Order: sequence, then C-alpha cells, then structure tokens
Amino acid sequence: MGHAERVVMEWTRRSIELLERALGPGRRDRVTEAEFARYEHQLLWARRYLDHLEMGGELLRPADEWAQHHEHDLTIEQGPPEEGAEIILFCRTCDDPVWANVPEESGEDMAAKYAEHLGHDIRTRRDEGPEERGVAVYGFDIGLDCHTCKNYEDGPIALFSDRVSDWFDELWNG
Ligand SMILES: [Zn+2]
Ligand SMILES: [Zn+2]
Repeated sequence: MGHAERVVMEWTRRSIELLERALGPGRRDRVTEAEFARYEHQLLWARRYLDHLEMGGELLRPADEWAQHHEHDLTIEQGPPEEGAEIILFCRTCDDPVWANVPEESGEDMAAKYAEHLGHDIRTRRDEGPEERGVAVYGFDIGLDCHTCKNYEDGPIALFSDRVSDWFDELWNG
C-alpha cells in the first residue's frame, strides 16, 4: 500500500469518527432533517470506501468524485487563500467541496480553466455509450458541463472529461 492510500485511509477514518459524533445521541435535534440524512449517507459511504481501501482497492479518481454529484447543482468558487486552495469545485446540493485546486499538485492549467467559470452553473454528464461517442474525448464517460456558458449545447465539449473507475458504481451504489 502506498503513501497516498495510507493518507486517504487515515483521513477517511477521521471523517467516520466526526460523522459518528455528529449523528450520535442527543445530536438529532441540533441539525435539520436534510443535514441528518446527508450525514447518514456520508457515513455509509465513508465506511464502504474505507473497507474498499483496506482490501487493497484503488483510490477514487477525480472522475469518480464528479460521479458522486451526478445531477447535483455544482459551481466553481474562489478558495480562501489561507487554506492553500485557489479554486474549488463546490456542490451546492451537498454543501461540500468536490475538488480543490492546490497549485503545486494539480497544475496551473486546470485551475486556469476552472477560473474562467467562477460562480457558473456546473453539472456532470454521464455518457452511457463512451465506446461510440465519449464525453469530449472518445472513450470518456463523464464530463463537467458549464450550463451558464451553454457549452453542452454545441455537442460534447465538456470543460473536463474522464473515465469513471470500473469498480466505482458498484461500490457507490452498495
Ligand atoms: Zn453533491
Ligand atoms: Zn461557464
């Protein structure tokens, strides 16, 4: 097991602890029903993902993380500079960041492309026939579209596109 896997496992264990605490006795009436349901779902997923990693499973790819927000209401935000991330792909439905750009890790190009769509209405698109068409690139099965710029109307030109891991849907859907 590599260093990255160990870091993610540790982080996942930590979020399981936090979620268990948030859902613990006496906490039920401190959060809204929607928040409670969201935490429950996050906890279920975190446990499933930790099991997967403990059995030697692969880390989530960015495309898998996009797939977790299918049909959700996403946008791009400018991150607080003190936290080191400049550009954040944010899910308004989940009220959670999906991806954050840390310049030395993800590179300038990706951040620059996201930065052109700050505050815009971003949605994921899953392609059922990637071997025939692909999202933007042949063989890719998920894309991020900007509905503010309407890039989705002129054909399959996503801001970003990639392939969801073969194992992802089964794990995500339990
Ligand atoms: Zn979401
Ligand atoms: Zn846009």
